[in-house]
Amino acid sequence: MSQSIYREISGSFFKKKEVRYGVGVLIMLALPLVYALVYATGGITYVYSHTMYIPILLAGIFFGPKFGLAIGIIAGILLGPIMPLSVADGTNQELANWLYRFFIFSLMGLISGYASDELRKSAVKIDALSSIDPETLIPNTNFLKHMNKVMLEKEVSLITILVNNIDSITDILGVDVYHQLLKDLHLDFTHQSREMLMIQPDSNKLWLIIAKTDIESDLNYIMQILNKSRTVHQIPLYVDYAVGITSTICVEQHLDIQAFSECDIAARHAQINNLPTFIFDDGKLKKRSDYELISSFTQALEQNHTFLMYQPIMDLKTNKVRSIEALIRWEHPTKGLIMPDRFIPLVEETKLIHLLTDWVVEKALLMLKKMSDQGLDTGISINVSAKNLYDPLFFDRTMAIIKKHKVDISKLEIEITETELMVNPAEAKEVLNQFAKEGLKVALDDFGSGYSSLAYLTQFPLDVIKIDKIFMIDILTRPQIKQIVSATVALSRELGYKVVAEGIEDKETSDYLTSIGCDYAQGYYYAKPMRELDILKFMIQ
Ligand code: C2E
Ligand code: CA
Ligand code: CA
Repeated sequence: MSQSIYREISGSFFKKKEVRYGVGVLIMLALPLVYALVYATGGITYVYSHTMYIPILLAGIFFGPKFGLAIGIIAGILLGPIMPLSVADGTNQELANWLYRFFIFSLMGLISGYASDELRKSAVKIDALSSIDPETLIPNTNFLKHMNKVMLEKEVSLITILVNNIDSITDILGVDVYHQLLKDLHLDFTHQSREMLMIQPDSNKLWLIIAKTDIESDLNYIMQILNKSRTVHQIPLYVDYAVGITSTICVEQHLDIQAFSECDIAARHAQINNLPTFIFDDGKLKKRSDYELISSFTQALEQNHTFLMYQPIMDLKTNKVRSIEALIRWEHPTKGLIMPDRFIPLVEETKLIHLLTDWVVEKALLMLKKMSDQGLDTGISINVSAKNLYDPLFFDRTMAIIKKHKVDISKLEIEITETELMVNPAEAKEVLNQFAKEGLKVALDDFGSGYSSLAYLTQFPLDVIKIDKIFMIDILTRPQIKQIVSATVALSRELGYKVVAEGIEDKETSDYLTSIGCDYAQGYYYAKPMRELDILKFMIQ
């Protein structure tokens, strides 16, 4: 375990060093002073001896029963055999008299110490109980409020994790499974090489605090842990997260709830926009890191820091691989693995998107060749962005690459999303017609995420409709979603399109899609995106 990111400090008044020191000195001074007072006022006959209760009670309250008892004994002796009954005539106290007082003083010290110890213990217990979630035992926001802790790191990354599909998990598998999932996450995150603190502010929300290195690396680090497959009570879980991250300086090394508003906003933004993660955009901060990222992209392509993963699209009738989809990844030398959702939108804002797509076409065709050399007649699909489609040279350039590789063009499919198609439908139609004439297949990606109707889409030369994965999350539990998907499948087939359902994560959803006549399916249930060698093995077995 690396160095701790926070340190416990004693917060209670009774435990404060300065207070204890002051009271200790007061007790030590009070003993001889009270002795002197009683002696000076004429001896134990008079009322002043009761002053002795002050140091005894203080000793018990502040230092516990042992010290209380010790001070009681000393006080009992000071006001006992060595204190005359009357100083004036020199009479001593009777043995029974001072022994009884000695006994009472000692008992007072002991009882006050014991009682204050017990009170302190129950206060700590109440504090501890109110600072953790009773179901998951993860610290809650009270923990932050009374955090008797000091952050040792000046700059920390704050992360919000939202569980998007909490309702599906709790409805289908029960709330116990969900609580166990959170407990497992807590255990997992707090047993990593980098120390983290987890807080559960809400039933569907977790906060993480980690010493900051670089916001993107921190996010990657978190996502790698979060994206591990999870099984609770032998039930494999699909958990849909939206993650937001920000960073903050701990003012006077303290952190309060307010500090989490930025990562909460970022996570909400991710959730609403159906993104896995979002970095809080405080203008300059994000723009700078975006700029740095995009500046290194050309080099990444040249030095092969980018690579393709392949995810199979299964034929639901034969259970065989119908085709594979090429999905780009970027292995950044310092930031680690970067997913396309992070860099494609940035690349799309620049001309680099043309270089990227050319690179993908080139690599995908090499893969197609490899597959046909191994006797596989599986097709391959690539993702094309709107910027590519509206580039007047895109068609010619792509055809040139295809001709160079001498591959069967009908095995290549381009995927374009519904929203991208609508940027300029007339122009898109023209380019897609050119490709279709050459024998290339065209798939409409993420269907349902936009607002176009299938009837409107018939004007485009489409072969395949890919139903967006958002519908698959709760298709089994929401009858309306079932109706939308089955109607889409039926209508698409009537219109002569093949249908792919995306994002299938379990057997039940797969079975349901087969039952409504869906042709193909893609998703983690069949296989996650894989490296070249793995997908070749997957297809051959
Ligand atoms: P997409 O085209 O919709 O690709 C499918 C995405 O869903 C992939 O994410 C894939 O890993 C993920 N996925 C597959 N099965 C499941 C599942 O069962 N559950 C869940 N939750 N997700 C699943 P990935 O690889 O991160 O790609 C994200 C997006 O980035 C792609 O969405 C695509 O729009 C874009 N992209 C990826 N590669 C390229 C590329 O080479 N060029 C362009 N222009 N865009 C690309
Ligand atoms: Ca796609
Ligand atoms: Ca898609």
